[in-house]
Amino acid sequence: MGTKIVLKSGKDQAVHRYHPWIFSGAIKKIYGDPSEGDLVTVFDNKDNFLAVGHYQPGTIAVRILSFEDTEPDLQFFRNRIISAIEFRKSVGLIGSDVTNVYRLIHAEGDNLPGLIADFYNGVVVMQMHSVGMYRLRKEIAAIISDLMGDQVTAVYDKSESTIPFKSGISGVNEFLYGNSDPVVVTENGFRFRIDWTTGQKTGFFIDQRENRKLLSEFTKGRNVLNMFGYTGGFAVYAMKDAALVHSVDSSFSASEMADENVRLNFGDDERHVSYQVDAFEFLNDIKEKYDLIILDPPAFAKHNNVLANALQGYKRLNMKAIEQIRHGGIIFTFSCSQVVTRENFRKSVFVAAASTGRKVKILHQMSQPPDHPVNIYHPESEYLKGLVLYVE
Ligand code: SAH
Repeated sequence: MGTKIVLKSGKDQAVHRYHPWIFSGAIKKIYGDPSEGDLVTVFDNKDNFLAVGHYQPGTIAVRILSFEDTEPDLQFFRNRIISAIEFRKSVGLIGSDVTNVYRLIHAEGDNLPGLIADFYNGVVVMQMHSVGMYRLRKEIAAIISDLMGDQVTAVYDKSESTIPFKSGISGVNEFLYGNSDPVVVTENGFRFRIDWTTGQKTGFFIDQRENRKLLSEFTKGRNVLNMFGYTGGFAVYAMKDAALVHSVDSSFSASEMADENVRLNFGDDERHVSYQVDAFEFLNDIKEKYDLIILDPPAFAKHNNVLANALQGYKRLNMKAIEQIRHGGIIFTFSCSQVVTRENFRKSVFVAAASTGRKVKILHQMSQPPDHPVNIYHPESEYLKGLVLYVE
């Protein structure tokens, strides 16, 4: 079905190992002139079938939907979405008493490249990262609302900023099913107001749920500094029993949302203060004020060519925190850059620690939760990594 694409000799190996991307450099010949988002069928140099997927011009030329010779029709997508739902039921996220916010579909991690869907207490917010998926947005919204029944009140498409800009397609963010005002969600019993229209990404950093829970084991009586706080995810958990919590974010609306979420859980509580200021500036002079610091910066590197700068950024950030934290302090430090490996990140933190000369222990190695599954054949789906450090 669709346009035929033949790979160069030897370039089929990654496909045999189920890697879901075909890079443009692997292609020997494209028969015909596929448009971005068209279905294409991939063959090896000897004309053996390999895979079927969505075409896109660029470094990643094909996002593979199936390694079987099947037609990816609506039933195909329905089956994949059923698997995603069943999986989340099996890990206790769908049907949980304490959490009603989770990632419903995690692109390659759920064998649906290009498709992200987050569930916010009845409202599903989708972001398409490929034109192939974008073309199917209405059908996918209908499948999700059909399968989830009265658990879903609305499906919102927020792909305007995520569909590849080279495609020339301009999306409009809109409801594809139902309608809803911003909602309040519950995560491990804590409440957060989610506004997908104004928020970053789909509105909330769901991927830190388990790391926030881990944080709450360390907060009692501590002076907590939540760097890059965004909507106050870590701050709210810390407020449970910390002595004070300071949230820092350069964005005004993020600071406002953090304040609002703290209020939602704890009312007007003077222990929490938000600072709208640049993180590096703030960290220049915190002296020994804090004994628990969270460093959760945005992705410093989106591409491999800026990797060195990104590693330098992590080093500088961690150095400032390790240098100034009180004796016996705890640091939760993260990287969400896909191109920064676990090893590279740890090395940056190691270099940072060494430059301060302080004694540092790694207490925990953190990752992404099961609703952001890592496809074992696609190491790139592992993006979130973090360390809990103890600084003597
Ligand atoms: N920890 C958050 C997610 C952080 S997202 C959570 O659990 O929800 C990264 C945040 O860093 C964004 O809110 C962004 O506004 C902020 N940010 C980006 N660059 C910054 C800078 N130089 N100084 C301070 N904040 C910054």
